[in-house]
Amino acid sequence: MASLLRSSLSFAAFDASSAEASSQFFWKPLEPPKIGNLPLNLVRTSNARLRIRGSVEEKHTPARKASKEPFRLTREEEGQVLDPFQELEYRFKRFKRKNYVENLVDYQNLAERQSPKFMVIACADSRVCPSNILGFQPGESFTVRNVANLVPPFQHGASETSAALEFAVNSLEVENILIVGHSRCGGIQALMSMKDNADSRSFIKDWVSIGKSARLSTKAAAGNLSFEMQCRHCEKESINGSLLNLLTYPWIEKRVSEGTLSLHGGYYDFIDCTFEKWTLVYREGLEGGSKYAIKNRALWS
Ligand SMILES: [Zn+2]
Repeated sequence: MASLLRSSLSFAAFDASSAEASSQFFWKPLEPPKIGNLPLNLVRTSNARLRIRGSVEEKHTPARKASKEPFRLTREEEGQVLDPFQELEYRFKRFKRKNYVENLVDYQNLAERQSPKFMVIACADSRVCPSNILGFQPGESFTVRNVANLVPPFQHGASETSAALEFAVNSLEVENILIVGHSRCGGIQALMSMKDNADSRSFIKDWVSIGKSARLSTKAAAGNLSFEMQCRHCEKESINGSLLNLLTYPWIEKRVSEGTLSLHGGYYDFIDCTFEKWTLVYREGLEGGSKYAIKNRALWS
């Protein structure tokens, strides 16, 4: 079972694409790849246009005026602090005018059905919205977000993440599952700060303890580094732990074995705005007798 092999699956040992990487646990920088090779079959947008009548979008233009200001929902306009919901209303009506109405056919099709190629599991952190950073359009990604983008093992039982997985894999038949981790993850910091065998009355601690094995392997591989660097290591290590946990779901393991489902890791570093991407290979007879390896590593910068 995947869980039995967890301790041997550090980043370095996991990486079959680079023999020299086996002596290091932080990934060396890769050449910036060509962006545009994602296997996305994007729906072409239509030119359907309708006129809509509105009031708010004509009365308020805070986002336009504040385009150089820091992101925030509460803005001042002519000395008055605007209610954040006025801003949301403005944004929604702008979305309706600029996106929905101008691509009406696509949105009407989406109203009937969805067939996303991707399921994305990302952190709930407000800075790492997958649609924002990866440009997923409506209908392209079935997304679940939780603290620290963790996937519990099948044996963990019901959770909103396992329910989302079941629907995405068995009903939507997504072709890719992408787990997106990120820099300065508060959930991973909570995981790395946990006291061993400490009684927990915190929902956060109970949840992030799913990543315990990533914490252990991080302590073993990077325990001599600063807490910040250990967290950085664990942010990536836990993604691989979650990729392995995906394989504990029988219907995921079956589809991966059959080649109809691919599992990918991603790491968004919002400090220097880079995105690392890799794919988990799962089959018998890989180098070293392992069933697991990483391929197609890339750094988008
Ligand atoms: Zn996070």
